[in-house]
Amino acid sequence: SVYLDYNASTPIDLRVLDAMVEVYKNNIGNADSRTHNYGESARKVVENSRKQVASLLNISPDEVFFTSGATESNNIAIQGLREYAEKNNKKHIITTAIEHKAVLETVSHLQKEGYEVDIVSPDLSGRVSIDKILDKVRDDTLLVSVMHVNNETGIIQPVNELGEALQERDVLFHTDATQSCGKLVDEVRSLKYNMLSFSAHKLMGPQGVGILVLRKKSFKLPPVNAILYGGQQEHGIRPGTIPVALTAGCGKACEIAENEYKKNNAYLHEIKEKILNELNVSGVEYHVNGDQKYCIDSTLNICIDGVSSEALMISTKQYCGLANGSACTSKSYSPSYVLGAMGISTSQIENSIRVSWGPGTTMDDVIENFRELLKIAKQIRN
Ligand code: PLP
Repeated sequence: SVYLDYNASTPIDLRVLDAMVEVYKNNIGNADSRTHNYGESARKVVENSRKQVASLLNISPDEVFFTSGATESNNIAIQGLREYAEKNNKKHIITTAIEHKAVLETVSHLQKEGYEVDIVSPDLSGRVSIDKILDKVRDDTLLVSVMHVNNETGIIQPVNELGEALQERDVLFHTDATQSCGKLVDEVRSLKYNMLSFSAHKLMGPQGVGILVLRKKSFKLPPVNAILYGGQQEHGIRPGTIPVALTAGCGKACEIAENEYKKNNAYLHEIKEKILNELNVSGVEYHVNGDQKYCIDSTLNICIDGVSSEALMISTKQYCGLANGSACTSKSYSPSYVLGAMGISTSQIENSIRVSWGPGTTMDDVIENFRELLKIAKQIRN
């Protein structure tokens, strides 16, 4: 069997696991305990992890805040601006129809409280247009939130140019970079953003830890408030005991990604070529959703004619771990809202699967299991 659902979660790199085990064994304190060496040594681990994250992103460690994951980071980035929004009467938010639910549900919640929200849809390419977003900017716009890479299609959004344009207009910009951090390393480094989110478990790190970046230095970010009441951890941005070993795992995953992303990306590209080749020689009729010029090397969203994704996933469970949408919404095999927003027909959406892989995917496993999958696809079609 081959795991082809890296966009949902990646296996942990064993070097990350080792780093975490070391911490669990040797750093038993609370990083915020000031009265003994146990606290001090835990704090050292956390601050070292923060440096590793900052180095991957080429930012300063004091701009890195540990959270429980991208969901929480997205929530803080958006809801944390409430006080500023109320005080300054800036209650207009712009986002896109293809964001993760952690963004969409958060803005929808604010909408119920009286915020105005503009949701921009992409076209068939899977990309949202910068002009469409900029057209929506108003004097009372609080924030624009646009993801870097979509988790279902792998399509890279034009956040580079968007960030620059928003900076010129003095509009705050948040980007959910959960699917790009550790892969599009140079691109993320050159982005102009005020806030950025990601989760460690999408780059071979542990589940349950993520990052919110608050760029205080690049351009003006108002105070972001915590959304939980509690202690002063993470400068009050994220109260609660810092999970020291998880931060160490997150830091190590970032360090490994920084050292290995070039090699990894070349390998991810090879796997994509291989999968496309298998599709081409298999005799199934298919097309790939989204403009492949803009697609990340680790994802393919494939529509196979006459083959329902639900039937395919059920009958190939023992060969491939696949998805037809994000894990958070795919419980019921319901049609993808991301593909829907691109204007893809319901029948094509129902025949679409998401295949995603990573540095831990072996070529032989892919070939063997994907071939089996394609055989079954043909049986279903017939
Ligand atoms: N944003 C994107 C683009 C994602 O792909 C995910 C994970 O599926 C998340 C946010 C949420 O991450 P987590 O579940 O780790 O909070």
